[in-house]
Amino acid sequence: MSNIASTLRAAVVGSGPSGFYSAEALFRLTEFPFEVDVFDRLPVPYGLVRYGVAPDHQNIKAVIKTYEKTAANPKFAFFGNVELGRDVTLDDLRARYDLVFLATGCAADRHLGIAGEDLAGNYAATEFVAWYNGHPDYRDRSFPIEHSRAVVVGVGNVAMDVTRILLKNRDELAKSDIDEHALAALRATAVSEVVLLGRRGAAQAAFAPKEIKEIGDLADVDLAVDPADAAASEAELAAADVDAKKNVEYLLARAAAGPGTRPKRARLKMLASPVEVLGNNGRVAGVRIERNRLIEKNGQFAAVGTGVFETIECGAVFRSIGYHGIAIPSVPFDAKLGRIPNHNGRVLAASGGQVLQGVYCAGWIKRGPTGLVGTNKPDAQESVRMAAEDLAAGAVTTGGKPSRDDIRAWLQAKGIRATNFADWKKLDALEQERGRAAGKVRRKLVGTDEMLKALG
Ligand SMILES: Cc1cc2nc3c(=O)[nH]c(=O)nc-3n(C[C@H](O)[C@H](O)[C@H](O)COP(=O)(O)OP(=O)(O)OC[C@H]3O[C@@H](n4cnc5c(N)ncnc54)[C@H](O)[C@@H]3O)c2cc1C
Repeated sequence: MSNIASTLRAAVVGSGPSGFYSAEALFRLTEFPFEVDVFDRLPVPYGLVRYGVAPDHQNIKAVIKTYEKTAANPKFAFFGNVELGRDVTLDDLRARYDLVFLATGCAADRHLGIAGEDLAGNYAATEFVAWYNGHPDYRDRSFPIEHSRAVVVGVGNVAMDVTRILLKNRDELAKSDIDEHALAALRATAVSEVVLLGRRGAAQAAFAPKEIKEIGDLADVDLAVDPADAAASEAELAAADVDAKKNVEYLLARAAAGPGTRPKRARLKMLASPVEVLGNNGRVAGVRIERNRLIEKNGQFAAVGTGVFETIECGAVFRSIGYHGIAIPSVPFDAKLGRIPNHNGRVLAASGGQVLQGVYCAGWIKRGPTGLVGTNKPDAQESVRMAAEDLAAGAVTTGGKPSRDDIRAWLQAKGIRATNFADWKKLDALEQERGRAAGKVRRKLVGTDEMLKALG
């Protein structure tokens, strides 16, 4: 193994926004020149920007141009198709790099914890999203809905994406980079109404004003809101931030406009919690909900049940109540929080435990599954700042690490076909070319095997 005298070597695991922002921040450390190797379990980069952000939100996906600039740095390398915990362990990386950054995101979903969740047709939004975005892990999944109505539990931005994809004109979606099998399946569904359930009131809804407005602006779709569901008390408005006030204003206007007569409908039902998913012959047939009221405590508003129940008939339930981190073998994990235990990005052996020298985390796996793409930038910068402080204080042992060529040889000896950034650019060009031929933004290659085959 060769020794790189002055340049330090960092491994970043995860090539989503927080992985790329970590790499970028490491390159900016003028006092510590770094080479950065970014690993991902998938053969292609960008995490949720490719597999989470909705296919009809291409403007958000344009952030990839920034990541390409980072990748163009000669000190950057991408090692795709290498999974931490399966192909390599954290100790393997710690032995081979001066610093290790964990930016593995939160890919699992949270359950509702109510009866009937095992019924066919009770779906996780996380999986539905990954499926319509062509994620290799979900290529063989299907989401049949044998009813004109679906229920989405949750009123965050992911719930808005799910609702929009369920209702949006299929020909409009066809121009995006939506997975083709998903689009064909969506064309075959009869869904014409989506009921969105929010636990609390209009002033506490988590959707961004532009996300709910996008639903309201969909062609052929009415956004139906009951006046009672748009209402907010003086106290609620006093506690509301700018976005929440805009949401209330918009929902009041929609409520005043009436339910409309368009062929499809998104119906917003606030102050409603699902208490049971109802079934018929093993399939979802409805949801029993309890209406809530708000109680105030220290300026915060919580929902409590009123004992008034209703049943909504439907053929599918999409739970969209948040993402959750997944434990990676060999990596510390706080199962309760669903995150890697850390202090401002310094990874701890366990929550409240010792700092693992030279190991840091960033993004969703560090702070939890909240925030936009851009939120991960200051987050990653904070972790890199901690690393720089540790390096300056001599708290990290550095030097004598293998070169990039040594890493390549090590992975090859393990029988791993790691992809590099040039491979990705080849796949990227191929996907865009296939897209052009089909009148789409891009036609994604879906399976890992399909991608590796295309690379020859
Ligand atoms: C459905 C959805 C829609 C969204 N829409 C928007 C939007 O419109 N606008 C916006 O600003 N934000 C949006 N976001 C938020 C944004 O996507 C996140 O803030 C961001 O992606 C989090 O970045 P991350 O790098 O922490 O995680 P991720 O993007 O999830 O990246 C994690 C990466 O780690 C890799 N990985 C995981 N485990 C391993 C392992 N064991 N070994 C190797 N690699 C591994 C994964 O393959 C992945 O590439 C959306 C999120 C979701 C879920």
